[in-house]
Amino acid sequence: MTTQRKISIIGGGVIGLSLAWELSQQGVDVTIIQRDTAKQTTSWTAGGILPPANLAKSLDPLDRLRGFSHELYPDWVSRLESVTQIDCGFRRCGGWYLANTPGERASMIGMTHYWDELGISCEAVSLSELGVREPRLQPWIESQPSAAAWWVADEWQIRPPHLLEALRAACQTTGVHFVDNTTVGQIETADSGPRYRIGDQWQTCDDLILCAGAWLGKLGESIGLRKSVIPIRGQVLLLKTEKPELKSIINVGHRYLIPRDDGHILVGSCEEETGFETGTTAEMLETFSQFAETLVPSLRNAERAAAWSGIRPMTFDGFPMIGHVPEQPKLFVAAGHFRSGWHLAPATAKCLTALVLGDSPTVSLDAFSIGSKHIKS
Ligand SMILES: Cc1cc2nc3c(=O)[nH]c(=O)nc-3n(C[C@H](O)[C@H](O)[C@H](O)COP(=O)(O)OP(=O)(O)OC[C@H]3O[C@@H](n4cnc5c(N)ncnc54)[C@H](O)[C@@H]3O)c2cc1C
Repeated sequence: MTTQRKISIIGGGVIGLSLAWELSQQGVDVTIIQRDTAKQTTSWTAGGILPPANLAKSLDPLDRLRGFSHELYPDWVSRLESVTQIDCGFRRCGGWYLANTPGERASMIGMTHYWDELGISCEAVSLSELGVREPRLQPWIESQPSAAAWWVADEWQIRPPHLLEALRAACQTTGVHFVDNTTVGQIETADSGPRYRIGDQWQTCDDLILCAGAWLGKLGESIGLRKSVIPIRGQVLLLKTEKPELKSIINVGHRYLIPRDDGHILVGSCEEETGFETGTTAEMLETFSQFAETLVPSLRNAERAAAWSGIRPMTFDGFPMIGHVPEQPKLFVAAGHFRSGWHLAPATAKCLTALVLGDSPTVSLDAFSIGSKHIKS
């Protein structure tokens, strides 16, 4: 009789949970150690936009991973929903991309050419047509006669808190063990394999996977990963109206409005180098309000339901780190997904599971391997 392989995952955000679900479905005995409650993870705080992607025509490694994830998403969510009976808020709602400055227009024109090469549909739409399809934008359209609009049908959304809950519930059905409210103090590698310290107790496992998001540098300090990930804060404002005001996601530069079915509208976001400091600032929330009300004046009457922030894990090259630590075939990392952790989660989980179990990943992970650029002695 063979013994079941034991894998520990540190971090219960979307990356750790997706991986745990995938590995446990492959018969692995998985334990997740998680310091925070779901609400404290970066994953909970995200907007949940899944921009368009196409694996078949992508050459760039990150676009290939994104394309694979995009292919996996509908079935991945549908399986999660059928196992857990939780509506994850997956909607093929489409997205508008609006430009009203020369810079926004230039960057959108570049983007449309790139999407065209990737076979992604992006349709230039007249402002009058935009007004018909999103009537609440009509006052903005009238005040911005030289603006431009593009429609991207293949942009989708999920609701991160719901999907996080579903992932955890699904993991429970496949026997994943949860060690909650627990901080791993240190990790170490020895000839016998990796081990990690909780309090003054060392724990062992066959393989260890670090999914600590923005906190990877702190967790992996002893193996040289201290500077591998840069924390970047993003703030969010949640508005609530009685009825939905918009049908689709509205993107303008780095700002967006994400309408939910129940009348909530999530307004985001920003990139701030404030270390690990969470919280929101009155100034930033005011710019979000102004952005929302300029686009949709009726949002002046919306209730400010909540506001929060999350810490995105950014890497130096913009690529996530997915693979084993050099010279350590039993110690893996899956972190550094920056602004795309939700979008990249299913493909990260599938491909890393293949790598850990000695199979070939559908999309090569070579470009995401952990190398000397991440390790500092
Ligand atoms: C405002 C905002 C909007 C976003 N919008 C989108 C979007 O629309 N689409 C998209 O795809 N992505 C989006 N993102 C990015 C996405 O949220 C992240 O890429 C993703 O959540 C990273 O997931 P993770 O599992 O790596 O990290 P996390 O969710 O942060 O999980 C890591 C977990 O590891 C735990 N941990 C760390 N150290 C230890 C330790 N020593 N011991 C035990 N546990 C530990 C932490 O408690 C943490 O919970 C957004 C992010 C923000 C902030």
